[in-house]
Amino acid sequence: MGKFTGKIAIVTGGALGIGGATARNLAKNGATVVIADIDEDAANNNVQKINSIGGEAVFIKADMSVSDDIEGMVDFTYRNFNGVDFIVQNAFGVISGVTRIRGDAVSVKEEDWDYGISILAKAIYLGAKHVVPIMKKNGGGSIVNMASVHSILQEPGILVYEAGKAAVVGMTRQMATEYGPDGIRVNAIAPGHIVGEGLKALWDKNPTGHKFFEDQYPVRRTGVPDDIANGVSFLCSEEASFITGHTLVIDGGLTVQLQETFGLRQAKYALDNPETDLFGPAAEG
Ligand code: NAD
Repeated sequence: MGKFTGKIAIVTGGALGIGGATARNLAKNGATVVIADIDEDAANNNVQKINSIGGEAVFIKADMSVSDDIEGMVDFTYRNFNGVDFIVQNAFGVISGVTRIRGDAVSVKEEDWDYGISILAKAIYLGAKHVVPIMKKNGGGSIVNMASVHSILQEPGILVYEAGKAAVVGMTRQMATEYGPDGIRVNAIAPGHIVGEGLKALWDKNPTGHKFFEDQYPVRRTGVPDDIANGVSFLCSEEASFITGHTLVIDGGLTVQLQETFGLRQAKYALDNPETDLFGPAAEG
């Protein structure tokens, strides 16, 4: 018996990266996992991985930028498994379009703002809209929303991503307050730079850039999807039953270091390692 035996979990973007590892972690602990994703091949591959170790997972094709797909994903889960205990709202990759929308308040195109915010923020609200009534009926549940260190620290030139990820934290706190009396806990995770399959392929082309990036972290490494999956698993578990409205920062200490000394250390690193490609692929995250 695993700690999640009998539990039903939806993981959006559960084919690859953070979502892929999260789906495997929850299934390894006994949950039945519904992987909702747009990448059919990668999702089926993850389902197979889970089934091959004796776990239970199914795939539903669902695009989190499409309202009907979000409703359909929850309906599918309810019809097949008669409940939803956990939803991990994670979809949208670091190398997909939405995270790369450029522009500040003056220059960002209005249609890019609408598209980006509809995905980053609206999908989280819509997911909750459809799972909360089911969770209430079944006596509770746990919602984990994927935020980012970008929810906390801001970067010029990417207003949409920064606003969308900040909204994830705000919505998490609001929903925790709203649904706590119904036994529903709502938390977020703010990952630092997490190297999943997509980012690894980019960093492999730029190892010196990756080394420079890793050196920015107090723990001197970037993250892997399992670092975040472990946090999700904890937040879903009974061990976290008094934790709600929280944003768990999992970032190897990136956001707690004093910026002035950090900048000096990085300048020294770049001078000592002139071969470093600071601006190659995947240098942004
Ligand atoms: P990833 O690209 O490795 O995986 C993203 C998954 O989401 C893929 O399976 C992809 O097919 C799926 N997906 C993309 N668009 C979708 C859509 N419209 N509908 C349904 N599924 C969709 O990405 P990742 O690095 O694992 O990132 C996952 C989440 O973590 C994102 O919310 C991202 O903003 C957040 N995050 C990532 C990092 C990082 O460094 N990797 C850092 C902070 C926050």
